[in-house]
Amino acid sequence: MMPSPSPHLKDASDKEAGFEINDDFDRFPQKNEMFRRSWWDPSIRNLKTEAFYRGHSEPVTRHRRAQGFHQPDYALRNAGWHLSDVLADIRGERERCEGFTDVFTLLGEVSSRRAELGSPEEVAGRVKKAARVLGAALVGITHYDERWQYSTRYHDSSGEELPPEIPPGLQHVIVVAVPMPYDIMKTMPSALGSAATGVGYSRDAALLISLAQFIRDLGYRAIPSMNDTAPSIPYAIKAGLGEYGRNGLLITKAYGPRVRLGKVYTDLPLAHDRPISFGVRAFCRICKRCAETCPAKALPLGAPSFATNNISNRKGVKKWSVNAEKCFNFWTLQDSDCAICIRTCPYNKDYGKWWHRAARWLAGTPLRRLVYSLDGFMGYGKRLGPERWWAR
Ligand code: SF4
Ligand code: SF4
Repeated sequence: MMPSPSPHLKDASDKEAGFEINDDFDRFPQKNEMFRRSWWDPSIRNLKTEAFYRGHSEPVTRHRRAQGFHQPDYALRNAGWHLSDVLADIRGERERCEGFTDVFTLLGEVSSRRAELGSPEEVAGRVKKAARVLGAALVGITHYDERWQYSTRYHDSSGEELPPEIPPGLQHVIVVAVPMPYDIMKTMPSALGSAATGVGYSRDAALLISLAQFIRDLGYRAIPSMNDTAPSIPYAIKAGLGEYGRNGLLITKAYGPRVRLGKVYTDLPLAHDRPISFGVRAFCRICKRCAETCPAKALPLGAPSFATNNISNRKGVKKWSVNAEKCFNFWTLQDSDCAICIRTCPYNKDYGKWWHRAARWLAGTPLRRLVYSLDGFMGYGKRLGPERWWAR
């Protein structure tokens, strides 16, 4: 099927968000996203890939000798993912895979009575408060941007490319972040550590469908979405949730890269937030720890560029691009996801502690090299043995 035409390349707020886009830019089809490729691309799909997916959803019958890959580790991992998996399995007649590759129930019933809510600023305040009650740690709001929306969506079961589904008029995007548990993330790479990823996605899923329901009951349309309609990171940057890091992830001020993201598209009139900067881009230029510790050598050591690694990278955007083929291959070889690039990042801290907040502030000043050296000297980012985690 023909992809829809490319939208305008430039947006007035790109500069503030640090986006650089050139004439090569084209919208990205969901089919080329790495997880979707693992369904149709014979260079990615193999017995290991199939075992990787099966292992997340079938009863746990196997384990490895390595610490962090024993039966209780796999059991906790799969429990962490369970809510997200249950929602993805509600396919009905439409054979959808809700949450992960598909939007959640596209449009639920909208109240026929529109609430009186005040100015867009007041409404934004109410929505953020509601999102926090429903489980969001961070909430920001920005405008819908056709450039990041997948040009076509991919149906895993049929292998068909289908038109995008977000109906016109949903001009506002509420972006939410849910943190992943800090301690268990320290055990990455392990099946145990992957429980943090699953818990993050499950909490995200529950939050998103609840937040959309709140808006529908106010009398407005709302579509909750995880990674299925568009990547969440560009929206999160525009909505002021954080900055883009060398590890290809959003670095938030409160949790570093240790978050899962989601979004709700809506026509509820809302005031928008603006991008923030607290020095991540300059710090990543001197740090490189994620790239140096990545076992698959999937992260770049150089400056942001327009270079792509393969069809899973978006063309025409200047950034640090992850080689998703190498990354995903490592996941399937070790039979669980990895996240070393989250664990070792100096921004992955418990910011409830004042000294970490002070270091984060210093990392945004010319003293960033000192912060980087001290972080390494103190041994932050080292792996916690999974058996020690269980014994604590
Ligand atoms: S998840 Fe692991 S393999 Fe993938 S980029 Fe991060 S460190 Fe590398
Ligand atoms: S590990 Fe260092 S280079 Fe990588 S994202 Fe974190 S701060 Fe940036």
